[in-house]
Amino acid sequence: MLEATPKEIVERKALRINPAKTCQPIGAMYAALGIHGCLPNSHGSQGCCSFHKSHLTRHYREPIMAATSAFTEGSSVFGGGGNLKQALTTIFTVYNPDMVAVSTTCLSETIGDDLPTFIRQARESGAVPEGKYVIHANTPSYVGSHVTGWSNMTKAMVTYLSAKTETPNNKLNIIPGYVEPSDVRAVKQLVTQMGIDAIVFPDTSDVVDTPKTGDFQMYPKGGTPIPDLIDTGNSTATLALGNFTSEAAATALQNKCQVPSRVLDLPIGLRATDRFVQALIEFSDVTPPESLNDDRGRLVDVMTDMQQYLYRKRVAVYGDPDQVISATEFLVDCGMLPVYVITGSPVGKRFEERVKDILKDTVPDAVVAANADLFYLHQLIKNEPVDLLLGNEYGKYIGRDEDIPIVRFGFPILDRVGHSYFPTACYWGGIYLLSNICNTLLERLDRDAPDELFELVR
Ligand code: SF4
Repeated sequence: MLEATPKEIVERKALRINPAKTCQPIGAMYAALGIHGCLPNSHGSQGCCSFHKSHLTRHYREPIMAATSAFTEGSSVFGGGGNLKQALTTIFTVYNPDMVAVSTTCLSETIGDDLPTFIRQARESGAVPEGKYVIHANTPSYVGSHVTGWSNMTKAMVTYLSAKTETPNNKLNIIPGYVEPSDVRAVKQLVTQMGIDAIVFPDTSDVVDTPKTGDFQMYPKGGTPIPDLIDTGNSTATLALGNFTSEAAATALQNKCQVPSRVLDLPIGLRATDRFVQALIEFSDVTPPESLNDDRGRLVDVMTDMQQYLYRKRVAVYGDPDQVISATEFLVDCGMLPVYVITGSPVGKRFEERVKDILKDTVPDAVVAANADLFYLHQLIKNEPVDLLLGNEYGKYIGRDEDIPIVRFGFPILDRVGHSYFPTACYWGGIYLLSNICNTLLERLDRDAPDELFELVR
């Protein structure tokens, strides 16, 4: 597997090995799927679109519907305006979506395709029928990551659609971040539990986790309705969950429609969920029901019950920045030691400062790095091992080579099931994530226990 990874760490500037991220349009495509009746269109070659679709299909185990502008050699040289017009004509004629969300690729960005002009020309030529929408996001993959792509497409929803009228809707906007459909569902359930009316966008629940009915649905019942997206401009406030995924859209909405916003961490773990609930209380003037206090109490109970197995366990956390930040705080609250905290997304000092602040009292010498890769993480582990890996599937090679258990968390997970159905967000999600962590550690304890310590009760 990775036997050749050397222990000696040398500075690398131009090369990433086993990067802990993927390309921008994947995130943009996933965000676009969170609009009801929307067909994403990848503006570039068919190969890019195939990769984006197959990556999402493998993670969610659902057929991902998306179209492509299908560049040829000619469009690669002379521009893809004609291809986009043809693509929109075909898409609206054959697939009849309510909206097409176009994301660019490395190729169309490199040749400098002017998407706003192309879309305007397509509309003027009649390629876009009356009452249908086309939005776009610039998503070059040589900058950012899939996280940036999600953020850019979510921001595009605001810049193209949000509108302020004279009639406030007395709703809260919630931007849930690049999370599983199960997490969006958990956020919606918590908000409903508190009796709050909210517009959650984008909403991939009931889109990439649809039940098997025997009928093919090109546009599943989920996704934020387009009228709701337009109505976000009339909301009381916006809660953006996840600094690196949701802030851009919330700020755009504030600037465009004067909807005040607050950026919070993803509500993964106890304290991050507490802060989310607190913000909901402040913006909606509601009192949490007893059932929510009970949910919180159950999470605290699991954390307390499992202390003895969690205490001072060394963990390597890696993946998308928003998930990693909240997970790090949760691990600390559980008594664990996140000694290596890595994201592949190039989010720089802001990420590093935030994580270091979380760790300053418990693991002040932790290695925290943005724009890093799993090769570097492996080198760190070779020098000083950890008890657990917490991150996406790509860490399984490190786990196998170093004999370290891995709890799969984040994106992508292509070799296990359940992540789209069981949330890690909110109090119940915290219980699920923690029981995964505990059970993985207990499994390892049993595996390594000599006969005299192979206990029936743990
Ligand atoms: S060429 Fe760029 S956009 Fe296309 S798959 Fe590769 S990284 Fe992604």
